[in-house]
Amino acid sequence: MPRYHLWTIGCQMNKAESQRVAGLLSSAGYDQESRLDAADLVVLNTCVVRKSAEDRVIGTLGLLAGMKRKRPHLRIAVTGCFTAQDLKSLQRRFPQVDLFFGSGQYDTLSTWLEEAPEHAEPGCHPCLPPGTLEVVAQSTASSFVPIIQGCNNFCTYCIVPYTRGREISRPPEYIEEEIRRLVSGGTREIVLLGQNVDSYGHDLPGKPDLADLLARLQPIEGLSRLRFLTNHPKDMSNKLIQSMASLDKVCEHLDLALQSGDNDILRAMARGYTVDHFRRLVGDIRTAIPDIAISTDIIVGFPGETDDQFENTLSTLEEMRFDTVHVAAYSPRSGTVAASRYQDSVSGQTKLERLHRIEELQETIATEINARYLQREFEILVQGYKRGKWFGRTRTHKLVFFSGEDIQEGALIRVGISRTSPWALQGEVVYNSTI
Ligand code: SF4
Repeated sequence: MPRYHLWTIGCQMNKAESQRVAGLLSSAGYDQESRLDAADLVVLNTCVVRKSAEDRVIGTLGLLAGMKRKRPHLRIAVTGCFTAQDLKSLQRRFPQVDLFFGSGQYDTLSTWLEEAPEHAEPGCHPCLPPGTLEVVAQSTASSFVPIIQGCNNFCTYCIVPYTRGREISRPPEYIEEEIRRLVSGGTREIVLLGQNVDSYGHDLPGKPDLADLLARLQPIEGLSRLRFLTNHPKDMSNKLIQSMASLDKVCEHLDLALQSGDNDILRAMARGYTVDHFRRLVGDIRTAIPDIAISTDIIVGFPGETDDQFENTLSTLEEMRFDTVHVAAYSPRSGTVAASRYQDSVSGQTKLERLHRIEELQETIATEINARYLQREFEILVQGYKRGKWFGRTRTHKLVFFSGEDIQEGALIRVGISRTSPWALQGEVVYNSTI
């Protein structure tokens, strides 16, 4: 059996697409290989959202060029946002790559696999509309299901609208059918994905929105949990908040990117909301769903960000007390409005200091929030086993490590929490019968 190694970096959308690529490769007769240097086929699923991600892709391609010199039968395929560049120039720069295929372009991969790969011409073709995707992801305890591709927002720092194009929603019947298949194969939790899930459906007949989609999926038998990401603060509706509060399979967790706690920076980012709007939104969400956990994203060192503007972000984080903060230092991405119009004026050292100050603050906040889980029991979806411990997630998406007997991946069990930290919880199983 030929063996494939799948290398993925970037957002959840990439992880979802990698699940699909893995499904396709296994139905084409390939076995998974954990080592890059032992595979017959290496597929890189790439990201260029930050420069550091793009550098890793280029570094890995360099490594693979060396491997291919020693093992000429090695085949290399590249997908993801890195492929949204001029194909001819990609082929010139990376002659070691046998196939470039755009995100979601599974038909190209499939055709290439069917033909003898050693005779296949390198190529790249336009993406299929997402609704037509027939590839079903490999089934696991938790599966990602894309519901909308692309983004119409054009935040000034972001490359995604250029790499993934405009928004295209998948029809609800395709989504439901795929989820039914995943659930009958053992998946207990579905994570609906999109760059902006709040835009879902505006381009479909009848304009079904995310709340309508959740109501349609809720009755699926065997499905225990529903999540979705990422929400956009300017688009999240009261209807969605109410549907989260009323549908019992929808988990109490949200990813809501603030990006900055300063109105002038938010305007320069073209985010389309103010700090006050965000504050009211979070208040409405917490009133409707009191135990909800909220994660956010912050960019530090956006062009022109002053010390005072950064302090505004810090005090907003202190006030809002998120469960998790993903913080990144701004890096200009060629082709974006921010890269062409603004000077990257904040020094690398200042960006790093600001990043560390947010991490320090968040460590304190997360320590306090997670301490509230101590000596209480929670339903955990078991996701795997690592270094002598089982691990899984609460409905609020807290990572929990625990020990116990006769545990299976995909089971829903009850765990009593005996230790907490800012990053994870630890405990013991108190009730182990699949719920
Ligand atoms: S909403 Fe903004 S940050 Fe998110 S993908 Fe779209 S353009 Fe990028």
